[in-house]
Amino acid sequence: MFSYRHAFHAGSHADILKHLTLIHLVEYLQEKPGALTIVDTHAGAGIYSLLDGFASVSKEADGGIFRLAKFVESCSADGISVVKSIQDYLNLIQAENVDGEIAIYPGSPFILAHLLRPQDRLKLFELHPKEIDILRHNISQLKQAKQIDIYAVDSFARLKGLLPPPSRRGLVLIDPSYEDKQDYRYLETAMEEALQRFATGCYAIWYPALSRRESTALPDRMKKIAVNHKRSWLHAELRVENAPGEKRLQASGMFIINPPWTLKKYLGEALPVLIKALGNDSGAKFILKSFEA
Ligand code: SAM
Repeated sequence: MFSYRHAFHAGSHADILKHLTLIHLVEYLQEKPGALTIVDTHAGAGIYSLLDGFASVSKEADGGIFRLAKFVESCSADGISVVKSIQDYLNLIQAENVDGEIAIYPGSPFILAHLLRPQDRLKLFELHPKEIDILRHNISQLKQAKQIDIYAVDSFARLKGLLPPPSRRGLVLIDPSYEDKQDYRYLETAMEEALQRFATGCYAIWYPALSRRESTALPDRMKKIAVNHKRSWLHAELRVENAPGEKRLQASGMFIINPPWTLKKYLGEALPVLIKALGNDSGAKFILKSFEA
């Protein structure tokens, strides 16, 4: 426990899928003026330097955000416009950097803080003793800091205490490290409890697509929970390569419960572009499935 540091993975292809999806969920929910409560159950440090520290060791951003930025740049040099969703996502990442030159990658807390309107609230959970201090420091620098609460407790156990939010309009990002195999089980319990208390909330669950049993079973387990609660779902997976035996993460997914009706089209346009930009071999592919309750 506590060996996971998200800085190793900041700006990876998995972050791109997760954050691209997250931006659409927030923007859709903000189409109505009512206050929105956003919960990020696994926050990490908030923002990451890509040029030094852990990220410069793992170099995962090379196959992620750096590669995507170069792809978009070469498209525009050739007069080809990439889909708006990817351009908007890149603009948001570049806005956290000086002169748009990507050296820093905002994690979910900073992306969400960036999108907050004055009436919205952001609740962040983080358990790691070092990450929580860094997160608190990073968040304290933001102009939106007063709209943000930070909890140094186990979010799987405490999420239900925040549900339903006072405005009954809520988005929950669940992005565990799955460092502890039990996280898969904790996730199921947390989702059951969350849907019992707040069935109409929008839930976005990230998972690594690994060959281990718990990981391959996760989408079906989430589908079962959603259907038992008569909820719609959307499942998206992005695989950048298929190299058996390779240790680095080659694919990840997002499972959304109560997705906006617009999400399938949004991801349907973005995912083929991500395959083109980030795919490493002929095994690069995506999954995009949904079910209307
Ligand atoms: N959501 C972040 C982003 O997109 O930028 C990345 C989060 S990272 C994948 C997962 C984080 O969850 C780690 O920093 C880890 O310390 C923290 N964590 C692990 N178990 C937790 C728990 N039960 N409650 C709260 N935080 C936890």
